[in-house]
Amino acid sequence: MAKKQFKAESKRMLDMMINSIYTHKEIFLREIISNASDAIDKLCYLSLTDENVGMERGDFRIRIAVDKDERRITVSDNGIGMTKEELEKNLGVIAHSGSLKFKDDLGEDAQEDAAIDIIGQFGVGFYSAFMVSDKVTVISRAYGSEQAYQWESSGADGYTITEAEKETVGTDVIMHVKPDDSAGEKYSTYLETWKIMMLVRKYSDYIRWPIVMDVEKNDWVETGEKDENGEPKMQMVNTVEEQTVNSMIPIWQRSRQEATDEECIAFYKEKYHDNDDPLAVIRVNAEGLISYRALLFIPSKTPENFYTRESEPGLELYSSGVMIMDKCADLLPDCYAFARGVVDSPDLSLNISREMLQHDRQLKLIASNLSKKMKAELTRLLKNDREKYETFYRSFGMVLRAGVISEYGDKLDEIKDLLLYNVDETKLVTLREYVDAMPVEQEKIYYACGDNIRRLLSLPQAEQLHARGYEILCMTSQLDEYFVDTMKSYDEKPFCNIAAEDLGLESEEEKKETEQKEAEAKELLDFVKETLGEAVSSVKLSHKLVSGAVCLSTEGGVTLEMERYFRSMPGAPDHIKAIRVLEFNGGHHAFQEMREAFDAGDREKAAKLAKILHAQALLIAGEPLDDPAAYSELVCELI
Ligand code: ADP
Repeated sequence: MAKKQFKAESKRMLDMMINSIYTHKEIFLREIISNASDAIDKLCYLSLTDENVGMERGDFRIRIAVDKDERRITVSDNGIGMTKEELEKNLGVIAHSGSLKFKDDLGEDAQEDAAIDIIGQFGVGFYSAFMVSDKVTVISRAYGSEQAYQWESSGADGYTITEAEKETVGTDVIMHVKPDDSAGEKYSTYLETWKIMMLVRKYSDYIRWPIVMDVEKNDWVETGEKDENGEPKMQMVNTVEEQTVNSMIPIWQRSRQEATDEECIAFYKEKYHDNDDPLAVIRVNAEGLISYRALLFIPSKTPENFYTRESEPGLELYSSGVMIMDKCADLLPDCYAFARGVVDSPDLSLNISREMLQHDRQLKLIASNLSKKMKAELTRLLKNDREKYETFYRSFGMVLRAGVISEYGDKLDEIKDLLLYNVDETKLVTLREYVDAMPVEQEKIYYACGDNIRRLLSLPQAEQLHARGYEILCMTSQLDEYFVDTMKSYDEKPFCNIAAEDLGLESEEEKKETEQKEAEAKELLDFVKETLGEAVSSVKLSHKLVSGAVCLSTEGGVTLEMERYFRSMPGAPDHIKAIRVLEFNGGHHAFQEMREAFDAGDREKAAKLAKILHAQALLIAGEPLDDPAAYSELVCELI
């Protein structure tokens, strides 16, 4: 029969699997077993509500059979099975093709590296069988179907699907093991029972279903005859016995002594297809009002699809080892949505529905405890392992902050000490650290909002603060600004937006002086306001500037950042505008020049200079110019 072709990317992947120099070829068994286990999970889950399944929890198992002479390893499960269409869909195209970014122009080595990377990141599941096999046969009968089908492939040249015989529901994956090759790869070891047992213990020990295989045993047995001393005669017999080779105890059910952190990390990497160690492993074993165990992880980086719809947050929820929900979002508040892991409680009912869970008191209790644990762990990282914490914050700071919003600010108090802000392009500080480092006379917490840290720190308003040794918190997300608005102060120190508010640095005398100067320059300032029209609400002399000539500040509750935010939101009301104030440095030569022109009656020149200075204030504040061409012309005229 005609062979069907793999989808292009799958073919490429397959080629790489077959020719792989990947050193951990042995993971193929783990991948095949974990598919089998998933298939059993699915049927077991179905059996909770569907009596026709006719299986008890104790009936499920995964069986491994090794045939040395035929060079075959067979992994069989009595799980949900696959229909013909599913065989086609699941095995004919590589599962994670969306994540594969192969480039034709990559050299062979680079492609190999890419493959290794993918194996590490996603596991390649079923395809890894081809690392050790030159042919793979899958015989499967889906639950609810009388007909079984066989899928077979010898690699990249395609696959066939034919009808097959199979008595029971489930799947057999038959791997035809490659001959040992001249490069020294000894595939034959995978045909040794001890090797398979070792691999099961190493990678699949916690699988919740029994993994059984026939194990040969040598036993001394009585022959029935007696020796010359009248003792029963013994002889060695070789028996074959079916043994369960995994311990089946999920890792989260084990104590610290029974499962080391390393083992938990290995479990995490395998389960969540992450190449990197998690930043933290959190184990909870709670007894009391409600008993449960939890094993949570803080990943070190955002998974590729984290911000997409397909990545639903949530922890796996088990009841005494049976999974009842794979993404239970109610177990953690949104600000900790980056955490992954499992929660297992014998106190939860098995066939509880999603809707019921939301109102479940016990679940709420677990959630509130887990939330405390998360906070404690993050606080610990922040204190004891700053580097790790900063890695965490770079990856998940957004989630932490966004979670607060979705909880209507409820969680702000909880996480405010976990927030980090840049005070220069590399240094991050907490609010606590900022306040502790404030010089004694500093009264406010200064901050600036915008996404470009360098621009924020070079705002003309910042110069004076830096000169006094005051630091400025760079709030790079709109959420930060929202938090500051909500908090108003931290440790009794009020927040001060340097682009909007009075910095509060002037003495009474200095204030008087500025007022006096302003009075003197009133005519000119009025003229500038008139020239600029609606573009600014008022014009004044500034006491915030040191060497800069102008700056733009705002009055009232709406800042430039907020205005920008509303501008970027489709459908947002367009009347939300900042009240803009143009501030001049009275001592700056550019201002003097404008004043001289004005005093000399050259209003045209004074107006041009006013427009240029206004444009510069806009640029510095990160605002677009209404008419850049006109600005450019004005500047050229002066050059
Ligand atoms: P993944 O397991 O990461 O989704 P795989 O390539 O390992 O990717 O498997 C692809 C799909 O094939 C699985 O998601 C599952 O639907 C199906 N599958 C694989 N093995 C089995 C099996 N033993 N029983 C039922 N379905 C299976």
